[in-house]
Amino acid sequence: MDLKERYYKKIRSQKLRLTKSRQAMIEILENKHLTFKEIQKALANRGFYNVSTIYNNLEFLMEHKMVVEIYIDNVKYYDLALDNPKHSSDSHIHIMNRETHEITEVNSPDIFDFISKHDCFKDFDLDYIRIIVSASKKNSH
Ligand SMILES: [Zn+2]
Repeated sequence: MDLKERYYKKIRSQKLRLTKSRQAMIEILENKHLTFKEIQKALANRGFYNVSTIYNNLEFLMEHKMVVEIYIDNVKYYDLALDNPKHSSDSHIHIMNRETHEITEVNSPDIFDFISKHDCFKDFDLDYIRIIVSASKKNSH
């Protein structure tokens, strides 16, 4: 099952309404981290113009823990978060490409494990681990 199908299934299984605009929202967020403006633009390209519907759908998807808001360099992005405990509103690692400003995810539980089990945190219950790495691609020759 591809990623968006898992989201559709989750919505249907909870007897919630899988509207065309919700489907479009999930599709445009697949493998992307988008600001509200970028979401608005991508949905407009698909014929969805109603801003309050966009707000409502984002609220809906966040309420059901399918979308999370993340802040990277003080900019708010929306991100899909289903079935990924290491990538939730609480814990995540992202790489911000310095040149393209493209954001990609790092889904490496070992990094979280290494940090959470590190000696310096032994007296703490960790709430979240949020890491943003700014980087540029190496020239491959
Ligand atoms: Zn992400």
